[in-house]
Amino acid sequence: MTVRVRIAPSPTGNLHIGTARTAVFNWLYAHRHGGKFILRVEDTDRERSKPEYTQNILDGLQWLGLNYDEGPFFQTERMERYQAAIQQLLERGQAYYCYTSEAELDEMREAQKARGEAPRYDNRHRHLTPEQRAEFEAQGRKPVIRFKIEEPQEISWNDLVRGPVTWNSRDLGGDMVVARSSDDGSPGQPLYNLAVVVDDIDMGITQIIRGEDHIGNTPKQILLYQALGASVPEFAHTPLILNAEGKKLSKRDGVTSIFDFRAMGFLPEALINYMVLLGWSPPDAQELFTLSEAATKFDLDRVNSAGARFDWTRLDWINSQYIHALSPEALVEHLIPVWQQAGYVFDPAADRSWLEQVAALVGPSLTRLPDAVEMTRYLFVPELSLDAEATAQCQQPGVAGVLEAAQAELKNIEALTPELATELLNRVTKDQGVKKGLVMRSMRAVLTRSMKGPDLLQSFILLHQHGLALPRLQEQISSSAA
Ligand code: GLU
Repeated sequence: MTVRVRIAPSPTGNLHIGTARTAVFNWLYAHRHGGKFILRVEDTDRERSKPEYTQNILDGLQWLGLNYDEGPFFQTERMERYQAAIQQLLERGQAYYCYTSEAELDEMREAQKARGEAPRYDNRHRHLTPEQRAEFEAQGRKPVIRFKIEEPQEISWNDLVRGPVTWNSRDLGGDMVVARSSDDGSPGQPLYNLAVVVDDIDMGITQIIRGEDHIGNTPKQILLYQALGASVPEFAHTPLILNAEGKKLSKRDGVTSIFDFRAMGFLPEALINYMVLLGWSPPDAQELFTLSEAATKFDLDRVNSAGARFDWTRLDWINSQYIHALSPEALVEHLIPVWQQAGYVFDPAADRSWLEQVAALVGPSLTRLPDAVEMTRYLFVPELSLDAEATAQCQQPGVAGVLEAAQAELKNIEALTPELATELLNRVTKDQGVKKGLVMRSMRAVLTRSMKGPDLLQSFILLHQHGLALPRLQEQISSSAA
């Protein structure tokens, strides 16, 4: 049987890391088994679903490179199918109209609580006579539709991540609402468990791989498959993603949408790579792979059933590896928007080759893309004061002579190459009769405004190309003379 798996996000929020990771596992499973990966947007909750969330989900999957083979399908376009299934359950006596009011339900739950019992519906309207129904209708009550859950019975499945799981139907909260009430007496809006099962049947889903927060829905859904006469797919419940405190990763951890990771400077390939490892361990020690590479090794039996702790250090390390592997031409594409956002002034087209050299200079030191903002400030911002250490360096004896000699030499050089720069620094050292270290430190202080930073020679070259080397030398010479 061809493997068909799906991701079924609800557009009630942005694409979250948990959903994205579930999408990754589904994608890998589909590709591992030569199957299909389907996208279904579960937008039946009309009040909470928003088109901008749908867009965010579609854009997020695209940014991550999680392409799907079929869809997106929208539940709101499939209402007739749900109504037909509900009708079928009603006709077969597997579902019924329930007129219990909110006040009665509250009272029921209070009484259960007082007796120390778990709240549940007590199935009181399961066997209404036509007369009783008519009376409720006459009172203007609007019924919901409940699916009968026979008790007790054991519902078991062999979870592809967790192994055998068994639930007792007594723990499912009584007969379950599958459709809300409607004003015209027809079955109203279908609810999640019903719609999901109808969809998974119609779409021929063979494995349902989803977060373990859905585990309590699975026994209810299995009963619905059986009632609808469909074969039950396999289930795999993947571990939740936890923060450093062991709690479910949430808004409080600063990441609500996948695009938050983009804003933090993570590359999509790195984030995907990290998500692959979030709960799954490859059979060998390999840590860096593309989705397609991971798909050749992926299987659910190596997915850990314990919660997966989000490890920023590991994500950073993976991101740095991907950044370091980029060519300067590719890296500059990522850095241009970062520099623009920082307010640096440059012309992305005319300054291209200079920008690529800047990317080549700092690329190996980057962990996240925005690290480049501070690292390259001295190259972009003309008016930048010396930091404290650089200021102290400029007060050392002999510095003024070094700077003046360097300035005089540099005036005659239009295009500075590494060779010319090296020669220049050597000549200044010799002519001034000072130690090479003094020359290097003084030049670093004045040119880069700091004693720490990227390679001096290359910085010198880039600053000269950008018209900043001579003015900085000049400015320092003047201010020392003053
Ligand atoms: N729509 C559900 C959610 O976003 C997923 C349902 C499922 O995967 O079965 O959590």
